[in-house]
Amino acid sequence: MSTKTNRPALVGDFEERGVIKKSASVFIALGYPAPYRVGISSLGAQTIYRILNEQPEVSCERFYLGDPEDSAEPTTLESGRSVRRADVLAFSIACETELAGLVRLLDNAGIPPVRSEREGRYAPVVVGGPLLGLDPRLAEPLADVVVVGEGEKAAAAVGRAVALGAKSVQDLSAALRGEDGVWIPGSGEPPAPALAPRECLPAAAAIWTPQAELGELFLVEVARGCPRGCRFCVMSRRARGAGPFRACEPSRVLAAVPDDAPSVGLLGAAVTDHPRLLDIVRPLVDAGKRVSLSSMRADRFDEALAELLSRGGARSLTLAVDGASAKLRELIDKGVCAQDVLRAAQAARRHGIRRLKIYAMLGLPGETDEDVDELAELLLELSGGGGVSASVQAFVPKPGTPLEAEPMCDPGVLKKRFSRLRKRLKGRVRLLPTSIRWSTIDWRLAHGGSRSALAALRAGRAGGDFAAWSEALESLGLSRVRFGRS
Ligand code: SF4
Repeated sequence: MSTKTNRPALVGDFEERGVIKKSASVFIALGYPAPYRVGISSLGAQTIYRILNEQPEVSCERFYLGDPEDSAEPTTLESGRSVRRADVLAFSIACETELAGLVRLLDNAGIPPVRSEREGRYAPVVVGGPLLGLDPRLAEPLADVVVVGEGEKAAAAVGRAVALGAKSVQDLSAALRGEDGVWIPGSGEPPAPALAPRECLPAAAAIWTPQAELGELFLVEVARGCPRGCRFCVMSRRARGAGPFRACEPSRVLAAVPDDAPSVGLLGAAVTDHPRLLDIVRPLVDAGKRVSLSSMRADRFDEALAELLSRGGARSLTLAVDGASAKLRELIDKGVCAQDVLRAAQAARRHGIRRLKIYAMLGLPGETDEDVDELAELLLELSGGGGVSASVQAFVPKPGTPLEAEPMCDPGVLKKRFSRLRKRLKGRVRLLPTSIRWSTIDWRLAHGGSRSALAALRAGRAGGDFAAWSEALESLGLSRVRFGRS
């Protein structure tokens, strides 16, 4: 583990450790189009912050989205400078509705969000993040440069190019043309998503704070990609553009963790598929740190891991069944059965981890009421041993996955399924459903290509609520896609 001491500092309204403050000739403003507590929990955005600041000539400073009614000019946390003074504005985006946040941040800064309206008179706008690996066109009308796929190499290339004086849209585009994973909108087709070089892994946070959504965790990844083939999942080896599974060397993960970080969040799509996971978790727990894992598969959760996580302060276990029944889990190739989940829950409880959270989806193709009943039975059986909550989402077919062409289940049918599940659970399991109507917005945006950015422009300026999004999608013809029945 790294012995460097990170003193807490008040940065804006937030208590942060690890913040980077420097004076340099180049100023890059890195925006996250969501509130601070969400944005600071993005390991991807933190990685870009770290890489850009590694350039001696570059000072990268952060800004986040304020309250919906906040129209103040955005300023950076590190120095309070207006982002309008930046040589480059960079953004990281994780989900479709964050496009509206990007529009708001640019509007508030007095910078036209639409590229063609900027006419090269403003600092270049560079946009990347997990969403654009799925479809770079989602940012096409807004961005001067789009980073496609894993952004480590592209971020370093942007930092180098700006440090060498490429501060205009024209110069930066020329300097970046041909770089791996960089797309200049308007100059041909987007490239294939880039992969980070092995030596860039693991991604590790720069900053940790008690005000993050995930709590005061130092975030570090243990693996990138996923070796599994779940047919609905954008991280699956079957998804278009998803990178291969890469497990990080335990010594490199441990070296990234500061000695004075009290809690560590180990991240990755498939953390429990790391063949040497215990060699990472055990030294952290032995050093007295609290440890949490971002994703655990029921078929990989065993006594040894339960014992370590319990010693590392874990009191709850989160598992995904995804499909409501064995039939649907087979359809999506989940590779987890009810017995795996029951076994994992028992192992956790034997070690004092009593709270259980289950992720599931309703609305998969071919789903019937009987499948919903099977999910209810499993949840009730699990609730016999302690507190259980179920986070249940509507299935949203995502581009690039084998199920991308499936229609989304009709919202009326979904509503009935959710209420059937609620009734069957008889209040014995806490049901945490996600919004069906917002899921329909996500679905339409995910498949809308560059029109989705224009919808974000209209919806963002009209207040960003559900009515604003519905109207924006309608006006651009994105509401015409039809729902399926099941
Ligand atoms: S659902 Fe989980 S295990 Fe399946 S492909 Fe996605 S990340 Fe991997």
